[in-house]
Amino acid sequence: MEIIEEIEKLNIGEVIKNADMREYTTYKAGGKALGIVIPDDVRGLIKLLKFLKDNKIKHKILGNGSNLIFSDSLYNGILIKLDNFNKLEFNDNYVTVGAGYPLTKLALRTARRGLTGLEFASGIPGTVGGAIYMNAGAYKMDMGYITTTVKVLDPNLEVKILTNQDLDFHYRSSFLQKVSGYICLEATLLLRKGDTEAIMEVIKDRKQRRIESQPLEYPSAGSVFRNPDGDYAGRLIEEIGYKGYSIGDAMVSLKHANFIINKGNASGDDIKKLIKEIKSKVKEKYNIDLKVEQEFVE
Ligand SMILES: Cc1cc2nc3c(=O)[nH]c(=O)nc-3n(C[C@H](O)[C@H](O)[C@H](O)COP(=O)(O)OP(=O)(O)OC[C@H]3O[C@@H](n4cnc5c(N)ncnc54)[C@H](O)[C@@H]3O)c2cc1C
Repeated sequence: MEIIEEIEKLNIGEVIKNADMREYTTYKAGGKALGIVIPDDVRGLIKLLKFLKDNKIKHKILGNGSNLIFSDSLYNGILIKLDNFNKLEFNDNYVTVGAGYPLTKLALRTARRGLTGLEFASGIPGTVGGAIYMNAGAYKMDMGYITTTVKVLDPNLEVKILTNQDLDFHYRSSFLQKVSGYICLEATLLLRKGDTEAIMEVIKDRKQRRIESQPLEYPSAGSVFRNPDGDYAGRLIEEIGYKGYSIGDAMVSLKHANFIINKGNASGDDIKKLIKEIKSKVKEKYNIDLKVEQEFVE
């Protein structure tokens, strides 16, 4: 029996066969994956992970695919989406939220409750799990500032609670990135009381700033490179004359040089080649090693 049919037989949730990664990434690029599984609950997730381990099948958690570049060849494994881990609970200034919950929606929900602290996240199109993993942030704020604890599944498939300190948050980095095999199930955030109208005003202002400075009309995955100390990756890319430069349909945005956009039919490999070329030109001209913020998935 095919692996994917065996997974269907586990009866743990929705199974999407032969998934086209153009539909599951914000770059709208990449090849196919053997399958995507959307487990109903933690028990189903554990059952799936045990099955994958026993059958030596690779897997990866897929959030909203807003930081990922899939290659054009088959991802010969299973992607796991935690869409059903979508609880949202308020307890005074604490919010406990499932890993699959969209960050932009969370920012609006907390704003409406008169809770301040998540305004920075209102334009970040990831899930809570992806944001914890990446320590997503903007405007000098990030998840590390507001996260108190995270419920995880550890590599032994046991449910554990990690504290903010355990999570070791740094610029676009967290413990979950450094030690593989941990899955974020839910996060508890501590916000502060504020005024809904004032919070919504900040969100509106940030949205306008993003519309003006980012190519949101095209598929992308946000900033390609981390900013080097004391400088901006976008500035360096402009300096090497790459604004508007394309490989296939992957193009350095004219609006924001640290964004690569998909003009239509960019392949994962076009994006990858363009990133490599920029990296080597910046190294050649400035002797700076730009670090890629986005993740390649093979
Ligand atoms: C237009 C645009 C603007 C953006 N602006 C910003 C910005 O201002 N600031 C910023 O930081 N980022 C920004 N991003 C990038 C991106 O949205 C963030 O990195 C986001 O946190 C990724 O979340 P995701 O759910 O899409 O994760 P994915 O891209 O699906 O996955 C990213 C990584 O997280 C892992 N992961 C996902 N969920 C879990 C989980 N539950 N447990 C363990 N690991 C998990 C995945 O395996 C993968 O390794 C932007 C992207 C776009 C397209």
